[in-house]
Amino acid sequence: MKYIERVLAELKTKNPNEAEFHQAATEILNGLQPVVECHPEYEKYGLLERFTEPERTIMFRVPWVDDQGNVRVNRGYRVQFNSAIGPYKGGLRFHPSVNLSVIKFLGMEQILKNSLTGLPIGGGKGGSDFDPKGKSEQEIMRFCQSFMTELYRHVGADTDVPAGDIGVGGREIGYLFGQYKRIAGEHVGVLTGRGLSYGGSLARKEATGYGLVYMTEEALNCRGDGLKDKTLIVSGSGNVAIYAVEKAQSMGAKVVAMYDSNGYIYDKDGIKLEIVKQIKEIERGRISEYAKRVKGAEYTEGCKGIWNIPCDVALPCATQNEIDGADARSLVKNGVKVIGEGANMPTTLEGIAAFRKAGVLFLPAKAANAGGVATSALEMAQSSGRLFWTFEEVDQKLKNIMVNIYRNMDAAAEEYGVAGDYVAGANIAGFKKVAEAMLAQGVV
Ligand code: NDP
Repeated sequence: MKYIERVLAELKTKNPNEAEFHQAATEILNGLQPVVECHPEYEKYGLLERFTEPERTIMFRVPWVDDQGNVRVNRGYRVQFNSAIGPYKGGLRFHPSVNLSVIKFLGMEQILKNSLTGLPIGGGKGGSDFDPKGKSEQEIMRFCQSFMTELYRHVGADTDVPAGDIGVGGREIGYLFGQYKRIAGEHVGVLTGRGLSYGGSLARKEATGYGLVYMTEEALNCRGDGLKDKTLIVSGSGNVAIYAVEKAQSMGAKVVAMYDSNGYIYDKDGIKLEIVKQIKEIERGRISEYAKRVKGAEYTEGCKGIWNIPCDVALPCATQNEIDGADARSLVKNGVKVIGEGANMPTTLEGIAAFRKAGVLFLPAKAANAGGVATSALEMAQSSGRLFWTFEEVDQKLKNIMVNIYRNMDAAAEEYGVAGDYVAGANIAGFKKVAEAMLAQGVV
Protein backbone atom coordinates (compact mmCIF):
# COMPACT_ATOMS: atom_id res chain seq x y z
CA MET A 1 0.00 0.00 0.00
CA LYS A 2 1.26 3.48 -0.82
CA TYR A 3 2.49 5.64 2.06
CA ILE A 4 -0.41 8.15 2.02
CA GLU A 5 -3.07 5.43 1.70
CA ARG A 6 -1.53 3.54 4.62
CA VAL A 7 -1.38 6.62 6.86
CA LEU A 8 -4.99 7.50 6.03
CA ALA A 9 -6.18 3.94 6.68
CA GLU A 10 -4.38 3.86 10.05
CA LEU A 11 -5.74 7.30 10.98
CA LYS A 12 -9.32 6.15 10.32
CA THR A 13 -8.86 2.97 12.37
CA LYS A 14 -7.23 4.83 15.22
CA ASN A 15 -9.77 7.67 15.28
CA PRO A 16 -13.14 6.08 14.52
CA ASN A 17 -16.26 8.28 14.39
CA GLU A 18 -14.26 11.42 13.56
CA ALA A 19 -15.80 12.19 10.17
CA GLU A 20 -14.61 15.80 9.91
CA PHE A 21 -11.06 14.83 10.89
CA HIS A 22 -11.05 12.06 8.26
CA GLN A 23 -12.35 14.50 5.64
CA ALA A 24 -9.67 17.12 6.34
CA ALA A 25 -6.89 14.51 6.51
CA THR A 26 -8.00 13.00 3.20
CA GLU A 27 -8.02 16.40 1.50
CA ILE A 28 -4.63 17.38 2.90
CA LEU A 29 -2.75 14.11 2.40
CA ASN A 30 -4.09 13.50 -1.10
CA GLY A 31 -3.03 17.05 -1.99
CA LEU A 32 0.50 16.19 -0.77
CA GLN A 33 0.88 13.23 -3.13
CA PRO A 34 3.28 14.97 -5.58
CA VAL A 35 5.57 16.26 -2.82
CA VAL A 36 5.62 12.96 -0.90
CA GLU A 37 6.69 11.16 -4.08
CA CYS A 38 9.69 13.48 -4.40
CA HIS A 39 10.74 13.09 -0.76
CA PRO A 40 11.24 9.46 0.31
CA GLU A 41 12.74 10.71 3.59
CA TYR A 42 9.24 11.74 4.72
CA GLU A 43 8.27 8.08 4.96
CA LYS A 44 11.59 7.04 6.47
CA TYR A 45 11.13 9.53 9.34
CA GLY A 46 7.40 8.85 9.81
CA LEU A 47 6.59 12.45 8.99
CA LEU A 48 2.96 11.99 7.98
CA GLU A 49 2.22 9.76 10.98
CA ARG A 50 3.62 12.48 13.25
CA PHE A 51 1.94 15.29 11.33
CA THR A 52 -1.51 13.71 11.74
CA GLU A 53 -1.15 12.97 15.47
CA PRO A 54 -1.61 16.02 17.74
CA GLU A 55 1.29 16.75 20.06
CA ARG A 56 -1.22 17.08 22.89
CA THR A 57 -5.00 16.81 23.32
CA ILE A 58 -6.58 18.46 26.33
CA MET A 59 -10.23 17.83 27.27
CA PHE A 60 -11.78 19.27 30.38
CA ARG A 61 -14.97 19.87 32.34
CA VAL A 62 -16.45 23.38 32.26
CA PRO A 63 -19.00 23.72 35.06
CA TRP A 64 -20.99 26.95 35.41
CA VAL A 65 -24.21 28.20 36.98
CA ASP A 66 -27.02 29.63 34.83
CA ASP A 67 -29.27 32.57 35.77
CA GLN A 68 -31.83 30.22 37.34
CA GLY A 69 -29.20 28.74 39.67
CA ASN A 70 -28.92 25.43 37.79
CA VAL A 71 -25.50 23.83 37.50
CA ARG A 72 -24.55 23.25 33.86
CA VAL A 73 -21.61 21.26 32.52
CA ASN A 74 -19.97 21.63 29.11
CA ARG A 75 -16.87 20.05 27.65
CA GLY A 76 -13.79 22.12 26.81
CA TYR A 77 -11.05 21.27 24.31
CA ARG A 78 -7.61 22.45 23.32
CA VAL A 79 -5.72 20.45 20.72
CA GLN A 80 -2.07 21.53 20.53
CA PHE A 81 -1.39 20.02 17.16
CA ASN A 82 2.02 21.07 15.93
CA SER A 83 4.66 23.46 17.26
CA ALA A 84 7.42 22.81 14.71
CA ILE A 85 7.52 26.37 13.41
CA GLY A 86 6.23 28.37 16.37
CA PRO A 87 3.93 28.44 19.40
CA TYR A 88 0.51 26.84 18.90
CA LYS A 89 -1.93 29.35 17.42
CA GLY A 90 -5.59 28.90 16.50
CA GLY A 91 -9.05 29.95 17.58
CA LEU A 92 -11.61 28.83 20.13
CA ARG A 93 -15.06 27.83 18.89
CA PHE A 94 -18.17 27.84 21.10
CA HIS A 95 -20.95 25.98 19.30
CA PRO A 96 -23.14 22.97 20.17
CA SER A 97 -21.67 21.03 17.22
CA VAL A 98 -18.15 21.15 18.69
CA ASN A 99 -16.58 17.75 19.40
CA LEU A 100 -13.09 16.27 19.22
CA SER A 101 -13.39 15.52 15.50
CA VAL A 102 -14.28 19.13 14.65
CA ILE A 103 -11.46 20.53 16.79
CA LYS A 104 -8.94 18.12 15.26
CA PHE A 105 -9.93 18.93 11.69
CA LEU A 106 -9.64 22.63 12.45
CA GLY A 107 -6.31 22.13 14.24
CA MET A 108 -4.73 20.18 11.40
CA GLU A 109 -5.86 22.74 8.81
CA GLN A 110 -4.46 25.45 11.06
CA ILE A 111 -0.92 24.01 10.94
CA LEU A 112 -0.70 24.51 7.18
CA LYS A 113 -2.60 27.79 7.18
CA ASN A 114 -0.24 29.26 9.75
CA SER A 115 2.76 28.04 7.80
CA LEU A 116 1.39 29.66 4.63
CA THR A 117 1.29 33.08 6.30
CA GLY A 118 5.10 32.99 6.42
CA LEU A 119 4.97 33.91 10.13
CA PRO A 120 6.40 31.80 12.98
CA ILE A 121 3.23 30.20 14.35
CA GLY A 122 2.38 26.53 14.96
CA GLY A 123 -1.11 25.03 14.80
CA GLY A 124 -3.75 24.45 17.47
CA LYS A 125 -7.50 24.80 18.00
CA GLY A 126 -9.95 24.63 20.88
CA GLY A 127 -13.44 25.36 22.04
CA SER A 128 -16.50 23.95 23.69
CA ASP A 129 -19.94 22.53 22.93
CA PHE A 130 -21.37 25.52 24.83
CA ASP A 131 -24.10 27.36 22.89
CA PRO A 132 -23.88 31.13 23.40
CA LYS A 133 -27.25 31.66 21.68
CA GLY A 134 -29.96 32.85 24.05
CA LYS A 135 -27.55 33.16 27.00
CA SER A 136 -27.45 36.31 29.09
CA GLU A 137 -24.36 38.53 29.35
CA GLN A 138 -23.75 37.18 32.85
CA GLU A 139 -24.03 33.56 31.73
CA ILE A 140 -21.54 34.16 28.91
CA MET A 141 -19.13 35.77 31.38
CA ARG A 142 -19.43 32.96 33.93
CA PHE A 143 -18.91 30.36 31.23
CA CYS A 144 -15.81 32.13 29.85
CA GLN A 145 -14.36 32.47 33.35
CA SER A 146 -14.87 28.79 34.09
CA PHE A 147 -13.40 27.79 30.69
CA MET A 148 -10.27 29.87 31.29
CA THR A 149 -9.90 28.64 34.87
CA GLU A 150 -8.80 25.33 33.36
CA LEU A 151 -7.32 26.52 30.06
CA TYR A 152 -4.92 29.05 31.62
CA ARG A 153 -2.44 26.35 32.72
CA HIS A 154 -2.01 25.16 29.12
CA VAL A 155 -1.59 28.49 27.29
CA GLY A 156 0.93 31.34 27.32
CA ALA A 157 2.28 34.13 25.13
CA ASP A 158 5.21 31.94 23.99
CA THR A 159 3.53 28.52 24.12
CA ASP A 160 -0.06 28.65 22.89
CA VAL A 161 -2.03 31.76 21.90
CA PRO A 162 -5.77 31.16 21.22
CA ALA A 163 -8.07 33.58 19.39
CA GLY A 164 -11.76 33.74 18.41
CA ASP A 165 -13.77 31.62 15.99
CA ILE A 166 -17.49 30.80 15.69
CA GLY A 167 -19.26 32.00 18.83
CA VAL A 168 -16.14 33.66 20.23
CA GLY A 169 -15.85 37.35 19.33
CA GLY A 170 -14.52 40.44 21.06
CA ARG A 171 -16.85 40.11 24.04
CA GLU A 172 -15.83 36.53 24.83
CA ILE A 173 -12.11 37.25 24.29
CA GLY A 174 -12.46 40.09 26.83
CA TYR A 175 -13.93 37.81 29.51
CA LEU A 176 -11.39 35.06 28.78
CA PHE A 177 -8.50 37.52 28.95
CA GLY A 178 -9.75 39.08 32.20
CA GLN A 179 -9.84 35.68 33.87
CA TYR A 180 -6.39 34.70 32.53
CA LYS A 181 -4.86 37.92 33.86
CA ARG A 182 -6.51 37.43 37.23
CA ILE A 183 -5.23 33.85 37.67
CA ALA A 184 -1.82 34.11 36.01
CA GLY A 185 -1.09 37.60 37.28
CA GLU A 186 0.37 38.83 34.02
CA HIS A 187 -0.84 41.16 31.28
CA VAL A 188 0.63 39.49 28.20
CA GLY A 189 -0.43 38.62 24.68
CA VAL A 190 -1.91 35.24 25.57
CA LEU A 191 -5.00 35.76 23.40
CA THR A 192 -5.44 37.65 20.15
CA GLY A 193 -8.52 39.49 18.98
CA ARG A 194 -8.30 41.60 22.15
CA GLY A 195 -10.00 44.99 22.43
CA LEU A 196 -8.01 48.03 21.35
CA SER A 197 -7.91 49.36 24.93
CA TYR A 198 -6.03 46.31 26.25
CA GLY A 199 -3.52 45.24 23.64
CA GLY A 200 -5.54 44.41 20.53
CA SER A 201 -4.56 45.31 16.99
CA LEU A 202 -6.34 47.61 14.61
CA ALA A 203 -7.73 45.72 11.58
CA ARG A 204 -7.84 42.34 13.38
CA LYS A 205 -11.66 42.35 13.36
CA GLU A 206 -11.73 43.01 9.62
CA ALA A 207 -8.74 40.81 8.73
CA THR A 208 -10.24 37.45 7.74
CA GLY A 209 -12.95 38.93 5.53
CA TYR A 210 -10.69 41.60 4.02
CA GLY A 211 -7.93 39.05 3.45
CA LEU A 212 -10.31 36.72 1.64
CA VAL A 213 -11.30 39.50 -0.71
CA TYR A 214 -7.69 40.64 -1.26
CA MET A 215 -6.78 37.13 -2.37
CA THR A 216 -9.85 36.76 -4.58
CA GLU A 217 -9.07 40.08 -6.25
CA GLU A 218 -5.41 39.09 -6.77
CA ALA A 219 -6.42 35.75 -8.34
CA LEU A 220 -8.82 37.57 -10.67
CA ASN A 221 -6.26 40.27 -11.50
CA CYS A 222 -3.80 37.57 -12.54
CA ARG A 223 -6.43 36.50 -15.08
CA GLY A 224 -7.00 40.02 -16.37
CA ASP A 225 -10.22 40.40 -14.40
CA GLY A 226 -11.39 41.86 -11.07
CA LEU A 227 -14.24 41.95 -8.56
CA LYS A 228 -15.69 45.18 -9.90
CA ASP A 229 -19.29 44.69 -11.11
CA LYS A 230 -19.29 41.00 -10.14
CA THR A 231 -22.34 39.51 -8.41
CA LEU A 232 -21.49 37.79 -5.13
CA ILE A 233 -23.08 35.46 -2.62
CA VAL A 234 -21.52 35.55 0.84
CA SER A 235 -22.87 32.94 3.25
CA GLY A 236 -22.95 33.56 6.99
CA SER A 237 -23.40 36.94 8.63
CA GLY A 238 -20.76 36.77 11.34
CA ASN A 239 -17.31 38.25 11.62
CA VAL A 240 -15.82 36.80 8.44
CA ALA A 241 -18.89 37.32 6.24
CA ILE A 242 -19.57 40.93 7.27
CA TYR A 243 -16.04 42.15 6.56
CA ALA A 244 -15.78 40.17 3.32
CA VAL A 245 -18.93 41.97 2.16
CA GLU A 246 -17.56 45.33 3.30
CA LYS A 247 -14.32 44.96 1.32
CA ALA A 248 -15.98 43.41 -1.75
CA GLN A 249 -18.50 46.26 -1.91
CA SER A 250 -15.72 48.82 -1.60
CA MET A 251 -14.18 47.25 -4.71
CA GLY A 252 -17.41 47.66 -6.67
CA ALA A 253 -18.87 44.16 -6.33
CA LYS A 254 -22.57 43.59 -5.68
CA VAL A 255 -23.44 41.16 -2.88
CA VAL A 256 -27.00 39.88 -3.28
CA ALA A 257 -27.39 37.20 -0.59
CA MET A 258 -26.24 36.26 2.94
CA TYR A 259 -27.52 33.92 5.64
CA ASP A 260 -27.46 33.00 9.30
CA SER A 261 -28.19 29.55 10.67
CA ASN A 262 -31.96 30.02 10.24
CA GLY A 263 -32.32 31.25 6.67
CA TYR A 264 -31.11 33.54 3.90
CA ILE A 265 -31.83 37.01 2.60
CA TYR A 266 -31.85 38.00 -1.06
CA ASP A 267 -31.62 41.63 -2.06
CA LYS A 268 -31.36 42.06 -5.80
CA ASP A 269 -30.32 45.70 -5.38
CA GLY A 270 -27.33 44.73 -3.24
CA ILE A 271 -27.18 44.07 0.51
CA LYS A 272 -27.16 47.17 2.72
CA LEU A 273 -24.36 46.16 5.04
CA GLU A 274 -25.05 48.81 7.71
CA ILE A 275 -28.41 47.13 8.33
CA VAL A 276 -26.85 43.68 8.58
CA LYS A 277 -24.26 45.04 11.03
CA GLN A 278 -26.97 46.67 13.13
CA ILE A 279 -28.94 43.41 13.31
CA LYS A 280 -26.08 40.93 13.77
CA GLU A 281 -23.34 42.89 15.57
CA ILE A 282 -25.33 45.29 17.71
CA GLU A 283 -28.72 43.68 18.32
CA ARG A 284 -27.40 40.09 18.07
CA GLY A 285 -30.65 39.34 16.24
CA ARG A 286 -31.74 37.15 13.33
CA ILE A 287 -31.07 38.01 9.71
CA SER A 288 -34.77 37.57 8.88
CA GLU A 289 -35.13 41.09 10.35
CA TYR A 290 -33.39 42.47 7.25
CA ALA A 291 -36.34 41.67 4.99
CA LYS A 292 -38.67 43.48 7.40
CA ARG A 293 -36.52 46.61 7.23
CA VAL A 294 -35.50 46.73 3.55
CA LYS A 295 -38.12 47.15 0.86
CA GLY A 296 -37.79 44.62 -1.96
CA ALA A 297 -35.58 42.23 0.03
CA GLU A 298 -36.73 38.63 0.55
CA TYR A 299 -36.14 36.21 3.40
CA THR A 300 -36.34 32.42 2.99
CA GLU A 301 -36.30 30.02 5.94
CA GLY A 302 -33.52 27.42 5.64
CA CYS A 303 -30.03 27.96 4.21
CA LYS A 304 -29.65 25.58 1.28
CA GLY A 305 -31.55 27.62 -1.32
CA ILE A 306 -28.87 30.31 -1.30
CA TRP A 307 -26.68 28.23 -3.63
CA ASN A 308 -29.39 28.26 -6.31
CA ILE A 309 -29.05 32.02 -6.72
CA PRO A 310 -26.98 32.91 -9.80
CA CYS A 311 -23.65 34.60 -9.02
CA ASP A 312 -20.15 35.10 -10.44
CA VAL A 313 -18.34 34.59 -7.14
CA ALA A 314 -19.38 32.65 -4.03
CA LEU A 315 -17.68 33.22 -0.70
CA PRO A 316 -18.84 30.60 1.84
CA CYS A 317 -18.10 32.24 5.22
CA ALA A 318 -20.24 30.40 7.80
CA THR A 319 -19.15 26.86 8.69
CA GLN A 320 -17.89 23.45 7.51
CA ASN A 321 -19.63 21.52 4.71
CA GLU A 322 -21.99 24.33 3.69
CA ILE A 323 -21.55 23.43 0.01
CA ASP A 324 -22.09 19.80 -0.90
CA GLY A 325 -21.94 18.14 -4.32
CA ALA A 326 -25.48 19.18 -5.30
CA ASP A 327 -24.92 22.79 -4.20
CA ALA A 328 -21.67 22.92 -6.17
CA ARG A 329 -23.36 21.59 -9.31
CA SER A 330 -26.12 24.16 -8.92
CA LEU A 331 -23.59 26.98 -8.62
CA VAL A 332 -21.74 25.71 -11.69
CA LYS A 333 -24.96 25.44 -13.66
CA ASN A 334 -25.72 29.07 -12.84
CA GLY A 335 -22.32 30.21 -14.07
CA VAL A 336 -20.17 30.65 -10.94
CA LYS A 337 -16.54 31.45 -11.85
CA VAL A 338 -14.81 31.72 -8.46
CA ILE A 339 -15.14 30.11 -5.03
CA GLY A 340 -13.24 31.74 -2.16
CA GLU A 341 -13.49 29.82 1.09
CA GLY A 342 -13.83 32.17 4.06
CA ALA A 343 -15.01 29.49 6.46
CA ASN A 344 -12.94 26.42 7.31
CA MET A 345 -13.69 23.42 5.06
CA PRO A 346 -17.00 24.84 3.81
CA THR A 347 -16.95 22.61 0.72
CA THR A 348 -17.30 18.82 0.87
CA LEU A 349 -14.85 16.63 -1.06
CA GLU A 350 -17.63 15.98 -3.61
CA GLY A 351 -18.22 19.71 -3.94
CA ILE A 352 -14.52 20.36 -4.56
CA ALA A 353 -14.50 17.64 -7.23
CA ALA A 354 -17.51 19.25 -8.98
CA PHE A 355 -15.79 22.67 -9.05
CA ARG A 356 -12.55 21.11 -10.30
CA LYS A 357 -14.37 19.28 -13.10
CA ALA A 358 -16.03 22.52 -14.20
CA GLY A 359 -12.75 24.47 -14.13
CA VAL A 360 -13.97 26.90 -11.44
CA LEU A 361 -11.21 28.97 -9.81
CA PHE A 362 -11.15 27.51 -6.29
CA LEU A 363 -9.34 29.28 -3.43
CA PRO A 364 -9.16 26.86 -0.47
CA ALA A 365 -9.76 27.97 3.09
CA LYS A 366 -6.31 27.42 4.49
CA ALA A 367 -4.99 30.01 2.06
CA ALA A 368 -8.01 32.24 1.51
CA ASN A 369 -8.95 32.77 5.16
CA ALA A 370 -5.40 32.98 6.52
CA GLY A 371 -5.67 36.75 6.90
CA GLY A 372 -7.24 36.39 10.34
CA VAL A 373 -4.46 34.37 11.87
CA ALA A 374 -1.82 36.39 10.02
CA THR A 375 -3.14 39.56 11.64
CA SER A 376 -3.29 37.75 14.97
CA ALA A 377 0.43 37.12 14.55
CA LEU A 378 0.84 40.84 13.84
CA GLU A 379 -1.05 41.49 17.09
CA MET A 380 1.43 39.18 18.88
CA ALA A 381 4.35 41.12 17.37
CA GLN A 382 2.86 44.43 18.54
CA SER A 383 2.26 43.00 22.03
CA SER A 384 5.81 41.79 22.48
CA GLY A 385 7.27 44.98 21.06
CA ARG A 386 4.85 47.22 23.04
CA LEU A 387 3.93 48.78 19.71
CA PHE A 388 0.69 50.00 18.20
CA TRP A 389 0.53 50.16 14.42
CA THR A 390 -2.00 52.23 12.50
CA PHE A 391 -4.93 50.63 10.68
CA GLU A 392 -3.24 51.40 7.36
CA GLU A 393 0.03 49.75 8.40
CA VAL A 394 -1.68 46.53 9.51
CA ASP A 395 -3.99 46.51 6.49
CA GLN A 396 -1.05 46.94 4.11
CA LYS A 397 0.84 44.08 5.78
CA LEU A 398 -2.30 41.93 5.55
CA LYS A 399 -2.65 42.69 1.85
CA ASN A 400 0.99 41.80 1.18
CA ILE A 401 0.63 38.54 3.10
CA MET A 402 -2.49 37.52 1.13
CA VAL A 403 -0.85 38.30 -2.20
CA ASN A 404 2.25 36.32 -1.15
CA ILE A 405 0.19 33.34 -0.07
CA TYR A 406 -1.58 33.38 -3.42
CA ARG A 407 1.71 33.53 -5.32
CA ASN A 408 3.31 30.79 -3.20
CA MET A 409 0.44 28.34 -3.64
CA ASP A 410 0.26 29.15 -7.34
CA ALA A 411 4.01 28.51 -7.70
CA ALA A 412 3.88 25.30 -5.63
CA ALA A 413 1.05 23.93 -7.78
CA GLU A 414 3.01 24.78 -10.91
CA GLU A 415 6.26 23.29 -9.56
CA TYR A 416 4.64 19.96 -8.72
CA GLY A 417 2.81 19.59 -12.03
CA VAL A 418 -0.70 20.48 -10.86
CA ALA A 419 -0.91 24.08 -12.12
CA GLY A 420 -4.08 25.89 -11.05
CA ASP A 421 -4.96 23.23 -8.45
CA TYR A 422 -4.82 25.41 -5.37
CA VAL A 423 -6.05 22.69 -3.01
CA ALA A 424 -2.82 20.85 -3.77
CA GLY A 425 -0.78 24.07 -4.08
CA ALA A 426 -1.80 25.36 -0.63
CA ASN A 427 -1.24 22.00 1.03
CA ILE A 428 2.19 21.61 -0.55
CA ALA A 429 3.39 25.18 0.10
CA GLY A 430 2.24 25.00 3.74
CA PHE A 431 3.52 21.50 4.39
CA LYS A 432 7.04 21.89 3.00
CA LYS A 433 8.07 24.41 5.65
CA VAL A 434 6.55 22.36 8.48
CA ALA A 435 8.22 19.21 7.14
CA GLU A 436 11.60 20.89 6.94
CA ALA A 437 11.29 22.15 10.54
CA MET A 438 10.14 18.74 11.80
CA LEU A 439 13.00 16.93 10.07
CA ALA A 440 15.52 19.42 11.46
CA GLN A 441 14.26 18.93 15.01
CA GLY A 442 14.60 15.14 15.05
CA VAL A 443 12.04 12.57 16.13
CA VAL A 444 9.98 14.57 18.62
P1 NDP B 1 -19.25 33.96 13.72
O1 NDP B 1 -19.73 33.21 14.91
O2 NDP B 1 -18.94 35.40 13.84
O3 NDP B 1 -20.30 33.80 12.52
C1 NDP B 1 -20.70 32.55 12.04
C2 NDP B 1 -21.83 32.77 11.06
O4 NDP B 1 -22.14 31.53 10.43
C3 NDP B 1 -23.10 33.23 11.74
O5 NDP B 1 -23.84 34.04 10.84
C4 NDP B 1 -23.84 31.91 11.99
O6 NDP B 1 -25.24 32.04 12.07
C5 NDP B 1 -23.46 31.14 10.75
N1 NDP B 1 -23.50 29.71 10.99
C6 NDP B 1 -22.86 29.01 11.95
N2 NDP B 1 -23.16 27.70 11.86
C7 NDP B 1 -24.01 27.58 10.82
C8 NDP B 1 -24.69 26.50 10.22
N3 NDP B 1 -24.53 25.26 10.68
N4 NDP B 1 -25.49 26.75 9.15
C9 NDP B 1 -25.64 27.99 8.68
N5 NDP B 1 -25.02 29.07 9.21
C10 NDP B 1 -24.23 28.87 10.26
O7 NDP B 1 -17.97 33.13 13.18
P2 NDP B 1 -16.82 33.63 12.23
O8 NDP B 1 -17.35 34.55 11.21
O9 NDP B 1 -15.68 34.04 13.07
O10 NDP B 1 -16.38 32.25 11.53
C11 NDP B 1 -17.01 31.77 10.36
C12 NDP B 1 -16.11 30.73 9.71
O11 NDP B 1 -14.85 31.31 9.38
C13 NDP B 1 -15.79 29.50 10.56
O12 NDP B 1 -15.65 28.37 9.73
C14 NDP B 1 -14.43 29.86 11.15
O13 NDP B 1 -13.70 28.72 11.54
C15 NDP B 1 -13.80 30.56 9.97
N6 NDP B 1 -12.68 31.44 10.29
C16 NDP B 1 -12.83 32.49 11.14
C17 NDP B 1 -11.78 33.34 11.39
C18 NDP B 1 -11.91 34.57 12.21
O14 NDP B 1 -10.98 35.36 12.23
N7 NDP B 1 -13.04 34.80 12.87
C19 NDP B 1 -10.44 33.07 10.84
C20 NDP B 1 -10.40 31.98 9.89
C21 NDP B 1 -11.50 31.19 9.68
P3 NDP B 1 -25.96 32.54 13.43
O15 NDP B 1 -25.83 34.03 13.42
O16 NDP B 1 -27.34 32.05 13.30
O17 NDP B 1 -25.20 31.92 14.57
